[in-house]
Amino acid sequence: MFKKILIANRGEIACRVMRTAKRMGIKTVAVHSDADAMALHVREADEAVAIGGSAAAESYLKIERIVEACKQTGAEAVHPGYGFLSENRAFAAALEEAGIAFIGPGTHAIAAMGDKIESKKLAKAAGVSTVPGYMGVIADGDEAVKIAREIGYPVMIKASAGGGGKGMRLAKNDAEAKEGFRSATNEARSSFGDDRVFIEKYIEEPRHIEIQVLGDAHGNVIYLGERECSIQRRHQKVIEEAPSPFLDAATRAAMGAQAVALAKAVEYKSAGTVEFIVDRDRNFYFLEMNTRLQVEHPVTEEVTGLDLVELMIRVAYGEKLPITQADVKLKGHAIEARVYAEDPLRGFVPSIGRLTRYRPPEGQGVRVDTGVYEGAEITMFYDPMIAKLVTYGADRKDATHRMAQALDAFAIRGVNHNIGFLAAIMGRERFTSGRLSTDFIATEFPDGFQGAALSRDEADQLVSIAAVAQHRITTRDLGAASGPHKPAVPADWTVLVGPPPRARREVHVVPGADGTYAVTLDGHTRQILTQWAPGVGLFEAKIDGVGITLQIDRAGAVLTLFRSGAATEMRVVSHAVGALTGLMPVKTPPDLSKFLLSPMPGLLVSVAVAEGQDVKAGEELAVVEAMKMENVLRAERDGKVKKIAASPRESLAVDQVIIEFE
Ligand code: ADP
Repeated sequence: MFKKILIANRGEIACRVMRTAKRMGIKTVAVHSDADAMALHVREADEAVAIGGSAAAESYLKIERIVEACKQTGAEAVHPGYGFLSENRAFAAALEEAGIAFIGPGTHAIAAMGDKIESKKLAKAAGVSTVPGYMGVIADGDEAVKIAREIGYPVMIKASAGGGGKGMRLAKNDAEAKEGFRSATNEARSSFGDDRVFIEKYIEEPRHIEIQVLGDAHGNVIYLGERECSIQRRHQKVIEEAPSPFLDAATRAAMGAQAVALAKAVEYKSAGTVEFIVDRDRNFYFLEMNTRLQVEHPVTEEVTGLDLVELMIRVAYGEKLPITQADVKLKGHAIEARVYAEDPLRGFVPSIGRLTRYRPPEGQGVRVDTGVYEGAEITMFYDPMIAKLVTYGADRKDATHRMAQALDAFAIRGVNHNIGFLAAIMGRERFTSGRLSTDFIATEFPDGFQGAALSRDEADQLVSIAAVAQHRITTRDLGAASGPHKPAVPADWTVLVGPPPRARREVHVVPGADGTYAVTLDGHTRQILTQWAPGVGLFEAKIDGVGITLQIDRAGAVLTLFRSGAATEMRVVSHAVGALTGLMPVKTPPDLSKFLLSPMPGLLVSVAVAEGQDVKAGEELAVVEAMKMENVLRAERDGKVKKIAASPRESLAVDQVIIEFE
């Protein structure tokens, strides 16, 4: 076996690969950029080599630096992870030339599958069902319209070199086909340096279901079941699961057989994924093949009991696959949620900063793959993924329940994150009943995410918990003042809920033995059992015998409780204070409508207006770059620019004033 391998990647996937390498007794080499000098993957490796500047183009994408790092450390093989150079034919070829093994497929397979038009043709020739459409390159907008009409609307216009959801446009009529052709071509040119686009039928309400394949250098190829990845935002996966709640055994076997046929056609000898879209009638169509380890591979590992990274390393070394198709058994159900540093309440803008708290959930059936630690920094240079949270259960219901609980227990502070949004998805009836499609998020959250709403009972439970928490805080404070063993006494509390004008709730708390409380709210009494101690972020309790975990943040007199994607602010005070609070004047927040604020931390690229200029609603005001994306900020209504408060190339904090209006 290899004695030492280099991981040409960063973040969670680099850590994931190292975990298996270590278990196999293989030494690991990390490579890192300047920004990642302190990153987890560097700490966990046996050796680390600095390969350049923080921007990926100056480090993780530099082929010669990585080959050099292999020579310098004596690494015999390279695992590329996903993204970066993982599907780069020139990289695989450079390693081959240097006599270093590439833990991935051959250069021929990478090249054949790297282009959507070519791979679709190849798939068709291998007997794989493809989306009806035109497989040639399209010359101009008029030709696009002609072909779209022949296929029949709606159609999907796609960049042949596309990836990551870029260069893809849906068109429902001639005008959209013309415009879609233009914008897809432009996006493809600027993102991939290749402006070829093609057109295929748009499959309505499709599911995204993909088959994991695994091949070796001896001509053996097997498939390891499917993953359903229909929960997407802007064509990017958010939640994945295995098995799909939609497939029957016959469809699974048919898709598996086609995926294996395609893999064999390109002499595939590693882990790879054949992606399909599946329509309402379980017709399935080939989308593309990813010639690498997939982000969502853990759900397959959980239901098959196999370690995909180990198998990749073994076949790259030349070993035969240790299992046959008959050995592959699917057991239980696994779900993965991608935890991102982004703000779902503000249109999912990326968030950067230091993780002042990072406490992943633990327990049976819970797996967290991450590349961060408490105190680490999320920078603007890379993908803003914080962790992948994977839960496993006997069935889908079990795995979903564990996911909801694990999300409630996942504590992240310092950056904005999407845990509340993920929890809200778990709570949707359409999710629990398994009625998924790629438009799930767009239709379930048509106006974006405004925070989850709690049921009346959930909200009342939170009020009761806040009263118990305050009761324990007060009991401890009194104990500290007058010596231990101060008997806990019944008390009346007023819980002020939310921002002003706060709802006032009267709660009566009667403490019993060993952390039990009888809590009465609106004439209804709940039995709460908890050992929670002030200062602990996780509040674990039983309410009338049912377990519950939530998070409590305490800032002065304000308790913030996080549960099922909702954050609720509460102040627990005595009845007397509660009554007086009702008499306090309500402070009105300052009027910020006269300012253009930066919606995210980033770099001010340009300001499109000048002082004294009149602007119309919708007009471009400024461009802010964050996480490699340019965001155009537009005027919300007509007005006149009074002052430009920031200058181009200045780095902006969130809510920093860019422009002031008259
Ligand atoms: P990328 O390589 O950019 O990720 P894919 O071809 O894999 O692009 O497509 C990504 C997603 O776009 C799919 O999961 C699906 O949701 C949607 N999609 C792609 N092609 C079609 C189509 N013909 N009809 C409907 N949806 C499609």
